[in-house]
Amino acid sequence: NTGQTQEWLQAYVDDWVAFYRKQTSDGEVASYIPILAEADQDDLGIAIIGKNGLTVRSGDTDIPFTLQSISKVISFIVACMERGVSYMLQRVDVEPTGEAFNSIMHLEMKPVKKPFNPFNNAGAITVTSALPGKTSDQRLEPVFKLLEKMLGYRPELNVDVYKSEQDSSTRNRAIGYYLLEMDFLESDLDVTLETYIKQCSIEVTIDDLAQIGIILANDGMDLKTGAEIIPRQVARISKVLMLTCGMYDASGKFATYVGIPAKSGVSGGILAAVPPRVRDEAMPFTDGCGIGVYGPALGDKGNSIAGIRLLRHIAKQWDLSIF
Ligand code: GLN
Repeated sequence: NTGQTQEWLQAYVDDWVAFYRKQTSDGEVASYIPILAEADQDDLGIAIIGKNGLTVRSGDTDIPFTLQSISKVISFIVACMERGVSYMLQRVDVEPTGEAFNSIMHLEMKPVKKPFNPFNNAGAITVTSALPGKTSDQRLEPVFKLLEKMLGYRPELNVDVYKSEQDSSTRNRAIGYYLLEMDFLESDLDVTLETYIKQCSIEVTIDDLAQIGIILANDGMDLKTGAEIIPRQVARISKVLMLTCGMYDASGKFATYVGIPAKSGVSGGILAAVPPRVRDEAMPFTDGCGIGVYGPALGDKGNSIAGIRLLRHIAKQWDLSIF
């Protein structure tokens, strides 16, 4: 009985959100982008959308936040759609680094022929440089178009976050200059960084992340119409990269203890795509779901600390691991 299931799931998730909210004090909100430090440390929310329409939302569900590194998934998908998958895989590798998201060190390992993966800053800035168009707004147009197709509305830039990051982007500038020297960038450094910082400043909610997650879980297809929003191969590679590189240097632990393709951002968001699993039919969401999490208190690797613990708990209880 769907009604009962829904009610039971809601109560269950509410309880665990309340439990893990108490652990947000184990983490810290990001402050290297000054405006992100204004986030409320105690916030925690989750939205889950099942393929069958079953939806569970709990905690702080309505707080908008910026995509930050989650935007790397979208820009990679768009670059693959605009420039072709094989071309993009010539520009950027698909190997985890085991280093922090903004590491510059791994770029110096010789011989590096391309950045390691599209989901750390060096790789993402390289991917962004491959987006067609002259100005940053022209380059981001297909990113906004894809988001609009998936979400049913056009999200907006949070201009204050954009400015704050522009004013404090020394590390990304350093990475950018290194990429320039290595001949990895396809366009002007300033325009590339402007585009990258803008894509990070696109504002969303956990419902949006859950919606993107279910489309990825569904191999890029629109749930209602069955239309292809993201080519299947691109959706698949994106999920592989989410699993292997989505949590930076905590990706191995996340794969081990949660086992779901997911991508985090320093604003505290997590996008997760749970593919269908044929196992115990009594478990919820066996036919797949998308999950959006928001919890701005971060652990030492830059991922939402309570968000990861909540996902780990739910994944274990509901057997969501893909393995
Ligand atoms: N905009 C952030 C940066 O480039 C994104 C990093 C992140 O979310 N991990 O530093």
